[in-house]
Amino acid sequence: MTGRVALVTGGTRGIGRAIAEMLKDRGYRVVAVYGGNVEAAEQFHQETGIPVYRWNVADYAECEAGIHKVAEEVGPVEVLVNNAGITRDVTLHKMSYEQWEDVVHTNLSSVFNMCRVVIESMRDRGFGRIINIGSINGQIGQYGQANYAAAKSGIHGFTKALAQENAKKGVTVNAIAPGYVDTDMVRKVPHEVLEKIIAGIPVGRLGRAEDIARGVCFLAEDNADFITGATLSINGGQHMD
Ligand code: NDP
Repeated sequence: MTGRVALVTGGTRGIGRAIAEMLKDRGYRVVAVYGGNVEAAEQFHQETGIPVYRWNVADYAECEAGIHKVAEEVGPVEVLVNNAGITRDVTLHKMSYEQWEDVVHTNLSSVFNMCRVVIESMRDRGFGRIINIGSINGQIGQYGQANYAAAKSGIHGFTKALAQENAKKGVTVNAIAPGYVDTDMVRKVPHEVLEKIIAGIPVGRLGRAEDIARGVCFLAEDNADFITGATLSINGGQHMD
C-alpha cells in the first residue's frame, strides 16, 4: 500500500471514476475533482468514500486554490491524473469561437494549470507522477473534432516537453491515448456512427473505463520510474503506432 496522494480531475464519472476507484484499491489516498455535476459527485462520494472537490480545471486561479486546499486537507499531490475533458463536436465551418475555446481551455489549458501548480512541489520533493489523458483522436484526427483533436494532440506534445524538463527530478510525465470507451461522452455519439466505429476496432468492442484505469495505475507506480514521455495507446487495436 503506497499511501501516496493521487488527484484525478474529472474523477467522479466515466473513465476518471474508474481511475479514482482503482487507485484507491491500490492504496493511494485519492481525491477527485469535478466540474459541475453535483449529483453525480455526491453519489460517487457516498459509494466510494473518496473526497470530492469542485472546481473548473480551465480556470488557473481555481486550480491554484483547489490544489492548495487538497494539500492542506489531504497532503501534497504526488500523482496527478489530468483526465477532465469535454467535447463540442461540429465541423470547423460551423464551429463558433466559444466551441473552440471551451474545448481547448477545458482539455488543454487545464493540463497546464494543474501541472503548473503541482510541479514545483513535485520537483522539490523528488517524486511525482503526472498522467495526462489524451485521445486516439489527438493521434489521428476526427471529422467534426478540430477543437478536440487539437487540444488532445497538444496534450501529447506538452507531455513530452514536461517529461524532458523533469526527468532528473524523479517526476515522470506520460500520456494515455484511449480509443473509444463506453462512457457518457461516447453515448452522445449517434448510434449508427458508433456501430461503424466498433466495426473498425480489431478487438471488436468499445473500451471499458477499467481498461484505461489499469494503464494509469501502471504508470503511477513508484517503480515505473524509467517510463517517461511515453504515450500508451489503449484502443483495442484501432490505431497502432
Ligand atoms: P465523461 O464526460 O464521462 O466525464 C468527464 C469528467 O470530467 C466529469 O467528471 C466532469 O465533471 C469532468 N469535467 C468536465 N469539465 C470539467 C471542468 N471544466 N472542470 C472540472 N471537471 C470537469 O468523460 P469520459 O470519462 O468519457 O472522458 C474522460 C477523459 O478521457 C476525457 O479527457 C476524454 O476526452 C478522454 N477520452 C475519452 C474517450 C471516450 O471514449 N470516452 C476516448 C478518448 C479520450 P462533471 O461530472 O462535474 O461534469
